[in-house]
Formats: sequence, C-alpha cells, structure tokens
Amino acid sequence: MPSHRPHDPFPGAAIADQVRQHGIHDPRLLDVLARLSREKFVPPDERRHALDDRAIPIGQEQTISQPFMVAVMTQELALSGTERVLEIGTGSGYQAAVLSELASEVFTIERLVTLSLRARAILDGLGRTNIRYLVGDGTLGWPAEAPFDRILVTAGAPGFPSALFNQLIEGGILVAPVGDEFSQELTIIQKQNGRPESRSIMGCRFVKLIGAEGWSNP
Ligand code: SAH
Repeated sequence: MPSHRPHDPFPGAAIADQVRQHGIHDPRLLDVLARLSREKFVPPDERRHALDDRAIPIGQEQTISQPFMVAVMTQELALSGTERVLEIGTGSGYQAAVLSELASEVFTIERLVTLSLRARAILDGLGRTNIRYLVGDGTLGWPAEAPFDRILVTAGAPGFPSALFNQLIEGGILVAPVGDEFSQELTIIQKQNGRPESRSIMGCRFVKLIGAEGWSNP
C-alpha cells in the first residue's frame, strides 16, 4: 500500500452502487452519495464497516442511518435545490451533508450536544456553509425559522408529529418513521389544503425520537 493515497473524488462510489441496485435512480442523489465519504462520519473503530449498507453505532447509543434509508428518505423529499429543509436528529451529520447539496438551506436539530458538535466539526471541515445547527428537542421544530419546505425526521416517532406538521408550508413534504420502538413505517406526509395526506412506503427501524412529541426520556 502506498503511504499516500491520491485524492479519491468518489469515496462513496460503493454506496451509490448499492443503493442504485436497490432501486434508487435519482442521478443527482447518486452523484452526491458517490462524492461523499461516509467514513468521515463514522467513529475510527467502525471505519472498516463504513461502506456497508447498514446503520453503524456513533456513540451515545445512537447510529448513522443505513445508506439505503438515507437515499430513500432523501428521494421522497423530492428536492429541486431551492428548499429550506428541517432535519430532526443530526446524529453523525451524514444525512445533513447529503441534504446540504440538494437543498438551499438545512436546519438540523440534535438533542445530544456532543453529537451536534461532532457533526458540526465534520461538516465545517467539508466547507458546508448552508447548514444551521440547534441543540434541543426537535419534536417542537424550530419556530423562529418556520415554515419549512421539507421536514425530515431521522428517529422513530411514536405518532403523528403535529408541531412539525404545523411548521410545514402548504404543499410541503414531511418524512418520518412512525411506529413503536422496535419497528416503524416510513411515512410520507404532504400538506394539502392545510391537511395531512399520508402514505407509508416501507418498514424501517430507527433509534427513538425522544421529546415532547416523541418517547419520554430513556
Ligand atoms: N440523521 C442522522 C441519524 C441520526 S440517528 C445521521 O445521518 O447520522 C437519530 C438521532 O436523533 C440521534 O442522534 C438522536 O440523539 C437524535 N434525536 C432523538 N430524539 C431527538 C429529538 N427530539 N430532537 C433532536 N434529535 C433527536
């Protein structure tokens, strides 16, 4: 092995290939995934698994989501590039990195300060200047910055996220895993004439959304 590796412009090529094989076709999204290094968002002792299509522990009992889930959720947001997006559950920052390339602004909320700061350091290092960070209970949204064109919840909610729905523009899309603590349905909610139109597209398993409109403290 040479001690110095030349810069690889496609560190996420294997991830893009895997999700493509599982039916993700959006070329912009695949390009973003191929250019992004998931390794950077994974703790050193888990790096050898960074390209596996599964969730990986990132400390504090939390995980970086499975790449396929990141791709499906992002695709469901149907981003054109002009949107202001709210993400609940910054976690590793990987999903925020993907969103920051496909939307105009990303607002991301994390309840655990250590994770928020770590994600921010990585994303600042990548030169992402269109991401804003908040530490707190994301189930209450970010009222000072509302409304949002899109909202993505990356932790499992026990029920319909009403405070978040209220912070969505008319015609906006909210994506959230909704269910019990062991399994959820990935639910796509669109605001139509002020009312939610929901459909669930697949089963999934996320860590718990903890907060006022989530699960109570662990
Ligand atoms: N989007 C992340 C995945 C994070 S896992 C990524 O790409 O890596 C879910 C995250 O949601 C965890 O970090 C957890 O601490 C956080 N979380 C749980 N409940 C929350 C709440 N009410 N508000 C904000 N973050 C929350």
